[in-house]
Amino acid sequence: MSAKIKVGVLGATGMVGQRYIKLLENHPWFEVTYVAASPRSAGKAYKDAVKNRWLIGENIPAGVADLTVEDANDEKKALGKCQFVFSALEMGKEEIKALEAAYAAEGIPVVSNASANRWTEDVPMLVPEINYSHLDVIAEQKKHHGWDKGFIAVKPNCSLQTYMMPIHALIQAGYPVKRMVVTTLQATSGAGYPGVPSFDMIDNIVPFIGGEEEKTEKECLKILGKVQDGKIVNAEYPVVSSTCTRVPVIDGHTACVSLEFADKKPSLEEIEKIWTSYKSVPQELNLPSAPEHPIVVRHEENRPQPRRDRETEKGMACVIGRLRPCNVFDIKFVSLSHNTKRGAALGGILNAELLKAKGFFDNL
Ligand code: NAP
Repeated sequence: MSAKIKVGVLGATGMVGQRYIKLLENHPWFEVTYVAASPRSAGKAYKDAVKNRWLIGENIPAGVADLTVEDANDEKKALGKCQFVFSALEMGKEEIKALEAAYAAEGIPVVSNASANRWTEDVPMLVPEINYSHLDVIAEQKKHHGWDKGFIAVKPNCSLQTYMMPIHALIQAGYPVKRMVVTTLQATSGAGYPGVPSFDMIDNIVPFIGGEEEKTEKECLKILGKVQDGKIVNAEYPVVSSTCTRVPVIDGHTACVSLEFADKKPSLEEIEKIWTSYKSVPQELNLPSAPEHPIVVRHEENRPQPRRDRETEKGMACVIGRLRPCNVFDIKFVSLSHNTKRGAALGGILNAELLKAKGFFDNL
């Protein structure tokens, strides 16, 4: 059997970084050999850097506990210690942009969770089931920067994962969506650690998340876009109106969605059939983190619920319930996904698995 690919996690001490460490513990293809975070954590053993703030419940994986945390701002420290990195940094956008480019320039591919490069035209913003074809822009990205082995691929905002696959499934089946109204109920883990103060969160709902509505309204258009002349050209539709709220749930973003179709309107039975039969390239390639059923439909009138449904398909499914006609648009439904698994670390791992399966990590 061939050796595992050595990976680094930038921001390894944070909310998403810790998820990466745990989820990669027994990964069949990847092995964590390098961890980096802020200068505050640099120089400490990983187990000491996360002492009193290890959030995943179980023990710190043995292979990582004693690794020394390096300063993520010094990309040269990663040379020879890992072959690509997951980026889960929380810093200024321009700082992250410059830093991710610095790693790529050193020949270290970056699979990122940060928003800094989501709008870079030649950087794919991947949901592997939807826009695997956007990988085609990576060749142009490398050419443009003169990068030999390095490149950057990113994930979209976590809340979009809650409803983008069902929308894509409908579009693909010949039912384009023209307009959409969405209200998200987002978990506190989405704000990182320590996140929203408990005084704001307990017994409360906060009806604002900085920058989130803009991301929700714009990012879907890039995800549904097409590659043309080495760039991703955004889709025109759907037009989205969103309200993003923070709710006292630890993990699991919920979205209440109303859709208007552009022309033909499928029946509710047809929609359910489209959703439950939805499969794509990650399933065809049998990628290790791909859910067998990316969309799961529930019929109980009180589901999906974060506590009951977020672990469906190991936290990689979009769980939908309450599909019904809408009096204003055509249909409405409630959907849910695990924000630090599908929406963050496990989604990032699925991106990396797709990149590996498509040969982007050959010759690292
Ligand atoms: P977090 O819990 O605040 O963790 C931030 C990480 O960045 C820590 O490892 C921290 O290191 C490191 N860091 C902070 N300042 C730094 C600096 N100046 N130089 C180098 N490293 C620095 O944040 P998070 O929730 O894990 O989010 C990480 C990234 O993923 C963000 O870009 C976020 O937008 C994105 N994201 C998060 C979610 C989610 O559900 N939480 C979902 C999708 C995307 P120290 O521990 O040493 O301070």
